[in-house]
Amino acid sequence: MSYDNNNVFARILRGELPCQKVYEDDATFAFLDIMPQAEGHTLVLPKEPAALLVDLSPAALQAAILTTQKLARAVQAATGAPGMLISQFNGAAAGQTVPHVHFHIIPRSPEQPLRAHARDNADPAALAAMREKVIAALAAQA
Ligand code: AMP
Repeated sequence: MSYDNNNVFARILRGELPCQKVYEDDATFAFLDIMPQAEGHTLVLPKEPAALLVDLSPAALQAAILTTQKLARAVQAATGAPGMLISQFNGAAAGQTVPHVHFHIIPRSPEQPLRAHARDNADPAALAAMREKVIAALAAQA
């Protein structure tokens, strides 16, 4: 599938739009979802420009899933949630709204019902506080 260089995540990766970044390495980038389905909802992107999982090179896919595992550990530690939902949408028909491959990490607990996908903006202060917690949990992993 052709890649739209001006999709919102391409622009975040180029630094043209702000985000609550929690992690970056040579091949991947992670930040908090601005419309979280639960506290701590985090997105992990390969930097390689690809819309769908099937478009990714093996190296980019490997890097993305390894970073997803690393972030899932940190987000779980930061939130204390007993379960972690990892999801990934391919194509508008599947619910994908931003055409750059990404993995969702969504903490799950019985006390917190899953909120709607990409609907309500989070309080910026709450996102900033969560960002600090995830970064601290990542540092504690190292
Ligand atoms: P998907 O529908 O799987 O493509 O997921 C896209 C996700 O990106 C949704 O969960 C949105 O809430 C989230 N999102 C959209 N724009 C931004 C943004 N500027 N910063 C952070 N998250 C965003």
